[in-house]
Amino acid sequence: MKGYIQVYTGNGKGKTTASIGLALRAAGAGLSVYIAQFLKKGDYSEIKALSRFENITVEQYGLGKFVKGSPSDEDRAAGAAGYQKLCEILSQNTHDVVIAEEGNVAVMCNIITEQALLALMDMKPDNIELIITGRGATPKVIERADLVTEMKEIKHYYHQGVTARVGIEK
Ligand code: ATP
Ligand code: MG
Repeated sequence: MKGYIQVYTGNGKGKTTASIGLALRAAGAGLSVYIAQFLKKGDYSEIKALSRFENITVEQYGLGKFVKGSPSDEDRAAGAAGYQKLCEILSQNTHDVVIAEEGNVAVMCNIITEQALLALMDMKPDNIELIITGRGATPKVIERADLVTEMKEIKHYYHQGVTARVGIEK
């Protein structure tokens, strides 16, 4: 089956959950899924749930801290490791669906370069479905993708002071 490049971006809620939903659907069809999460660290509930599936692998490449200003050496090293792993997964062509979770945010925070993310898109074997999530997709990433959905924030309780809740946002 031919694979395409999908991007879920924008300020509204649903980017990560869209990619998790896709992973679930793919796993149900017997496809194998690899997810690299940039920036994140710790037991997000989706990771606990997805670990029940033998054909979904999730790995985290982040410190789990908000990156303010320029990233630390540790931030960069974690991002580089995730990027390296994604390169391996794509070049070895071992999975059907590959998800670079918060890949756009990694670029925005200077954890990986835009050039690196574009290179990942270019090296994708024809059969792999590549998904990149995160707010702030750059114009070049958008141009190179086959499918781009912008989650548009109409309202978000974040502005009422409701931070991420276990089971709903994390
Ligand atoms: P979900 O994981 O529910 O699908 P998402 O992936 O679209 O959401 P992210 O952009 O990854 O959401 O946001 C992560 C967290 O940032 C949210 O759970 C929320 O707590 C917080 N957040 C939401 N809106 C804003 C905002 N406008 N500014 C800063 N932080 C926000
Ligand atoms: Mg997200």
